[in-house]
Amino acid sequence: MAGPGEYTADVSEGITRVEDLPIPQVVRRRRSFKRRKCPRCGHAAYRDKVFTRRLHDLGDLAANRPRDLVVTYSQHCCSRCRKYFNADLSDLAAPNSLYTRRVVVLAVRLVVEDGLPYRSASWHLWRDHRVFVPFATVQNWVEAGGKKGR
Ligand SMILES: [Zn+2]
Repeated sequence: MAGPGEYTADVSEGITRVEDLPIPQVVRRRRSFKRRKCPRCGHAAYRDKVFTRRLHDLGDLAANRPRDLVVTYSQHCCSRCRKYFNADLSDLAAPNSLYTRRVVVLAVRLVVEDGLPYRSASWHLWRDHRVFVPFATVQNWVEAGGKKGR
């Protein structure tokens, strides 16, 4: 009879297509404001439009599902500068990133602190944190941070 240390493969072992992975839970966040200070001149600028952005976050391992943040945020138009700017989301994610900051932080740690190869880091993120990050993306993050191979 096998003891508590018996090896069991991950339920998603062998899945080769992203579409076959479990459907993410959606967590909604709101960063939509009536007015925001213009980052250039400080003028209180009214909301002009509202957009949404989807960010892949650390998943729910107990529920065995990935998790996406869907953030609703406001775009403002400064009447003085005549320029548009968005409500600040920089605490959640870097501009244009598809992933939350904590996913990036964790991925970089796996490589820099634990010395995992990119493919192993990618697998670890899925297996233990239920977030799918292609290994090339992990590599880009680490190389952009300039910390590999110290
Ligand atoms: Zn302005």
